[in-house]
Amino acid sequence: MSIRFDAIKNLKNPIPSKAPSTPKITAIFGENVFNTQTARKHLSDEAFKSLQASIKAGQKLDRSVANQIANGIRAWAESKGVTHFTHWFQPLTGTTAEKHDSFFTIKSDGTPIEQFDGDALIQQEPDASSFPSGGLRATFEARGYTAWDPSSPAFIMQIGQQGGTLCIPTIYVSYTGESLDYKAPLLKAVEALNKAAVEVCNYFDKNISRVTPTLGWEQEYFVIDEGLFNARPDLILCGRTVYGHSSAKNQQLEDHYFGSIPERVYAYMKDFEEESYKLGIPLRTRHNEVAPAQFECAPIYEEVNLAVDHNTLLMDVMARVASHHNLRVLLHEKPFAGINGSGKHNNWSMATDTGVNLLAPGKTPKTNLMFLTFFVNTIKAVHDYADILRAAIASAPNDHRLGANEAPPAIISVFIGQDLTKVLEDIKERVGDKFDEQDESMLKIDIHKSIPELLLDNTDRNRTSPFAFTGNKFEFRAVGSSANCANPMTVLNVIVAETLKQFKNDVDALIEKGEKKEIAIMHTIREYIVKSEKVLFEGDGYSEEWEKEAEKRGLPNVKTTPLALDAMVTEKAFNLFESNNVYSNIELEARHEIELEKYIKKVQIESRIMGELATSHILPAAIRYQNTLISNIRGLRDLELPETAYINQKQILDKISELINKTSDLVEKMITARKVCNAIDNTRTKAIAYQSQVKDSFFDPIRYNVDKLELLIDDKEWYLPKYREMLFLR
Ligand code: ADP
Ligand code: MG
Repeated sequence: MSIRFDAIKNLKNPIPSKAPSTPKITAIFGENVFNTQTARKHLSDEAFKSLQASIKAGQKLDRSVANQIANGIRAWAESKGVTHFTHWFQPLTGTTAEKHDSFFTIKSDGTPIEQFDGDALIQQEPDASSFPSGGLRATFEARGYTAWDPSSPAFIMQIGQQGGTLCIPTIYVSYTGESLDYKAPLLKAVEALNKAAVEVCNYFDKNISRVTPTLGWEQEYFVIDEGLFNARPDLILCGRTVYGHSSAKNQQLEDHYFGSIPERVYAYMKDFEEESYKLGIPLRTRHNEVAPAQFECAPIYEEVNLAVDHNTLLMDVMARVASHHNLRVLLHEKPFAGINGSGKHNNWSMATDTGVNLLAPGKTPKTNLMFLTFFVNTIKAVHDYADILRAAIASAPNDHRLGANEAPPAIISVFIGQDLTKVLEDIKERVGDKFDEQDESMLKIDIHKSIPELLLDNTDRNRTSPFAFTGNKFEFRAVGSSANCANPMTVLNVIVAETLKQFKNDVDALIEKGEKKEIAIMHTIREYIVKSEKVLFEGDGYSEEWEKEAEKRGLPNVKTTPLALDAMVTEKAFNLFESNNVYSNIELEARHEIELEKYIKKVQIESRIMGELATSHILPAAIRYQNTLISNIRGLRDLELPETAYINQKQILDKISELINKTSDLVEKMITARKVCNAIDNTRTKAIAYQSQVKDSFFDPIRYNVDKLELLIDDKEWYLPKYREMLFLR
């Protein structure tokens, strides 16, 4: 018996959800979070106020207050049976990191006590020298620090762990202050956006003193049986199947999309949702996605910082809860060839402290102008920095998806819908090139008249655009399902910040020349529309015509990660990030290096597992079946039957023999190509070589032969679970 058949035989019945069926979500929401209400209960007035101030205005906490807060948090955690704490951070590996310490300690006089002081809350020095630093820590100091980020509340992770662990969200920086994680740059980008956006807001409303970017992600994922997963070394090691013939039925009937959720998965969803609610993750929707075994969930949007933490936390929660249901969640962008991959749409907007969504069309001419300002500035930012935005979503797994005719192309364009296209056209025509008092009529532009109410809730949905306006937010769709949203969000917030700064300069220059404020704004908007309209595209982003058209327009279309990453280390990128205090040149170069290395390692692992599976699983199975055919043919010939009696067997034998030879030959050649790549010193050259000489040259050809063998060989000789077994969950 092979592990495949064991897994099929042992397929489990649905494990009932543990989530209680009656209580309301509000009854458990945030129960494992040290949120405002909990803080109120466990902190002194002084400590509570300092904590609030530090959350709201980023004020530093002094040590004595930090001690009080730490004590309060410990008391709360202990009341829930927690004995250990950890700083929880998001290093550049792409996963989350934790290192548990106990509250338990021994005093100098030998008395054992429980203790958690302010120092331990605020800063830690994990011996985390193995996290990628892109050479940063070699150049500077070897140490890395985690530092408390009070804007994201502490929480208790409790799944499958008795007692659970107190997690303190932190940023992770080097001794000399360089960022070593995804969160520190994000917080800086949020600040850059706040500053630039508030200044522009004040043209319209002097009461606005804070602007916060908001994010609502939509997480797509696959779920498969754990036994079948364990029988696929490729899934275990790289999260995707490197082989597997497509199933006779896959997504062509579109019967999975929005269908009723399979019982096993439903129970699983309920359980991970329950854990998420306890952790304060405001999940809202769940449904089946297009591919079989593919699903999606989405929360209510939050401030980007929290939303990012909640997404990384959710990915962790999903993986932990899956094992209790004998399931595995696959967050890879393309676990299965031939059917849709998974993305993570990032719905993004900006909210003011006066409660206004800056990307929601207003009801009065004045608020319309404010909306138009932020709307057009975002388009211009995407136009001007499309290459850097592209780099922010580049990864080995996302390369399988972008431009694969089921996901946004690698070309960054913006979809805004018919009505807003018309609004922008109007502005272009009616405002004209010259300043004119007549232009005041333009200010009366009433978007609400041009956009029927209904459309606001139901914007035309062009699903093929990588960056689409959807009524009151932009939806960045090219982000991959396994990505940490912080990276694309950092870039988006910085480029919009930079564009808004420029906008302010341009408008002020016109005002200085004696232009009226509103007219100066309108003219600058017009100029920005003209300058960036080539990034606007309303058609089918998956089509070949668009690729040609985009090329004519001069829009970049970089299809592979190693080349897309170049945009991180240009003069333009250095200026952008440096002037907004987000990355220094050194930090950018380090990140560039880290991303390239990640790419190389991922392709290398995939290539190795392809070779190993071919030689140790597939070829032996093929050869066994080849032998069966040979003895069959020999037997028939020994009976002195005419050749027609075994002509079909011989044809099959010939085909199999040819496929065996081709597979074996290609695998050998791929190994040689890998050796050549490994000898390359320069990281970028090596990444490009891995992409062109290993991945592009061998992955598809080898797979083609192996997948053909899968169809020809006796089913019981085949050890790898097949697509139909993994994808149609029972
Ligand atoms: P879809 O049809 O694309 O699934 P939804 O209306 O369900 O669209 O929204 C998807 C996501 O967009 C949700 O997570 C939602 O919270 C988020 N979203 C809505 N408004 C905003 C906003 N102003 N800023 C950020 N995200 C938002
Ligand atoms: Mg959406």
